[in-house]
Amino acid sequence: MIGGGQLGQMFCLAASSLGYKTCVIDPQQNCPASSVASEFIKADYDDKNALDMMIKKCYAITIEFENIPLKAAEYLNQKTIFYPPPLALEICQNRILEKNFLKNNQILTADFLSIQNENDLKNIDNFIYPAILKTAKLGYDGKGQVICHNAKEASEAFYNLKQQQCILEKKINLQKEVSQIVAINKDKQKYHLPIAENIHINGILSKSTAPAKIDNNTKKEIEKITAKIAINLNYQGILSIEFFIDENNNVMVNELAPRTHNSGHYSMDGCLSSQFDQQVRVMADLPFGNSLLLFKTEMTNILGDDYKNGELDIKKILSDDKNKLHLYGKTEDRIGRKMGHINHCYINI
Ligand code: ADP
Ligand code: MG
Repeated sequence: MIGGGQLGQMFCLAASSLGYKTCVIDPQQNCPASSVASEFIKADYDDKNALDMMIKKCYAITIEFENIPLKAAEYLNQKTIFYPPPLALEICQNRILEKNFLKNNQILTADFLSIQNENDLKNIDNFIYPAILKTAKLGYDGKGQVICHNAKEASEAFYNLKQQQCILEKKINLQKEVSQIVAINKDKQKYHLPIAENIHINGILSKSTAPAKIDNNTKKEIEKITAKIAINLNYQGILSIEFFIDENNNVMVNELAPRTHNSGHYSMDGCLSSQFDQQVRVMADLPFGNSLLLFKTEMTNILGDDYKNGELDIKKILSDDKNKLHLYGKTEDRIGRKMGHINHCYINI
């Protein structure tokens, strides 16, 4: 596994329960996966010696974090079984490439304008506001995003973001946000996990609930779009897609993640096979598991904000016996940092 965050940690735990040994590379010694990986390599993602060591040790290699250097992904892809395809990774690393890919494939997104440099600011006057200016690269949990009510604010925001490549996106009146995770094996067979309904607060995922309250036509449309994206990216591995549903029931793609996803954590307790089980199976070239939803499950993220003087009230969380608690072993509880999650299982309904 390239990357030792919580997604890497939960992958290692799932792999271990199938009897596999795991090897994780991450520059941070204390990352969540380092304590559960069979072997941990502290190195940068483009450290060739470290990558060579992994290639030698591992049957297959994947990622839990999309912002690894593309060169590293291309190298791994040449030398070993590596999912996702580097081209898909490149698209997911840059919102401009991502939105253009979707547009070129006739997949609906929020209206957008790419702003690569000062020159492109000439186009912002006629854009529809309110809009959100987002950095094209390295944004997560709502970081690198500014709401703009007019062209003047958009221009100011571009300069405040130090003229990085950006995308200006129409702000959608959201009816709801949902997400779909799909597992794709080496023969390009697909397995769709149940769709989750997501609530974000300040750009950070707060809750995901499965099943999503959507009608059958919307569900079919989401599955169709997901399959189309997977096929057109020539995808293998785990692909996660965030969707907007606007007030007129239009289904739009918000963004893609070439890995497991926070909004799929409900599957750890709500499904027979979790997103991490599916990732292990795809990487090990095994049949898909069944991710049938066993009961309604509501996942709530635990952020650094939920800690008081470095302590989380674990007793209170566990006083509800239908709560399953997953903590990532992070020591620093910064505001907005994802520390763990609770899956509340509605087992009586
Ligand atoms: P990140 O990479 O940080 O997850 P997103 O583009 O998914 O970035 O934005 C985070 C959240 O901000 C979204 O899940 C949504 O709640 C809100 N958001 C982002 N773009 C829009 C938009 N165009 N219209 C309405 N809400 C948006
Ligand atoms: Mg997002």
